[in-house]
Amino acid sequence: MTEGYLRNRYSVTMRRMPTSTPTSNRNSPDKPQLPVISLAELQSLLKNLGQPAFRAKQIIDWRNKGVLNPDEMKNIPGELRAILKDELLCEPLRLIRRQLSSDGTRKYLFALNRPRVSGKMVESVLIPEEKRGTVCISSQVGCVLDCPFCHTGTQAFEANLTAGEIVAQVLAIKSDLRSEPMSGDLHNDITHIVYMGMGEPLANEDGVHGSLAALLSDEGLKLSRRRITVSTSGLVPQIKRLGELFQVNLAISLHSAIDELRDSLVPINRKYPLKQLRNCLNHFPMGKQRHITLEYVLLHETNDRDEDLQALIDFVNPERERVNLIQFNPYPGSPYEGSSKEHMSKFAQNLISKGIRATVRRSRGEDIMAACGQLKAETSDQ
Ligand code: SF4
Repeated sequence: MTEGYLRNRYSVTMRRMPTSTPTSNRNSPDKPQLPVISLAELQSLLKNLGQPAFRAKQIIDWRNKGVLNPDEMKNIPGELRAILKDELLCEPLRLIRRQLSSDGTRKYLFALNRPRVSGKMVESVLIPEEKRGTVCISSQVGCVLDCPFCHTGTQAFEANLTAGEIVAQVLAIKSDLRSEPMSGDLHNDITHIVYMGMGEPLANEDGVHGSLAALLSDEGLKLSRRRITVSTSGLVPQIKRLGELFQVNLAISLHSAIDELRDSLVPINRKYPLKQLRNCLNHFPMGKQRHITLEYVLLHETNDRDEDLQALIDFVNPERERVNLIQFNPYPGSPYEGSSKEHMSKFAQNLISKGIRATVRRSRGEDIMAACGQLKAETSDQ
């Protein structure tokens, strides 16, 4: 498939991006959401309702274990359980479907519970390994961008998730791991979070910033910044704000280091071309041991040619960045073919020979279609 074919096949457009600022409250639900309420907020709410403040800590402890249904909070009196259900949106998500892969990967389909967007669905994936458990979470229903190789990109943008809905994905998976632990040597807890599911996280700064604050908080899951990665297609001003506010790991969906081709594969490149992205990455704040990950899905005869390799070598700053080569996860009707395993490994070796750290990401959960957007589309088709 040639670059020209790509441009002709997809008259690539960007859906209107919602204007998003960290302070606006556009997509907030009417009630506070239990997954992200702070201890002080909950204490104040209980006090106003004539309830003892110490109950707030008990409720937060249940919440942090993944228990969001007040009826399951054993040390909370019945009257208070009823109050919680009235005053808070305790369970912002409903589990619709769960799929288990033979390699231990679990994929979840959730429906939103909030007025106006009730029933809209998002996906999350748990990827267990021996020493870590990574959860890949969604930040939008559909996506505001139209990356043509991505299944989510083929689905209409429907809503930004709230911070509570983003954190609720993590808590629901925590709860699932408690009721059905991993078998064998696979790690049985959540150690890492990646914002790589459905949606462009930085087009939903309200939800993503709020969720990061909650996940990093000592009152919440107390995750380390080093264990959270936000992946973006390259929204330059938003990347700068992310670096200023949260020193989490950054991943860029690069997929081409040639502007003309990247304009097609990652349409946001038309707004923020590679030169601007390069400059922004050079200034992104990082600790000494850390690096920025450049994600690169290898597509047969699209972005895996010699000229693509050379452009990538020229683009990467080996001191601060590493390249993650990703096997294309095909979906029904997808017009692309992934590069062969041999070609991927040759591509990686060529990068390594130039002093660039490059890894080939093994595709997980292929038997349950674990690439983002696939379970939702499959369920919607039924
Ligand atoms: S790759 Fe990411 S930004 Fe692009 S359409 Fe898919 S979900 Fe959206």
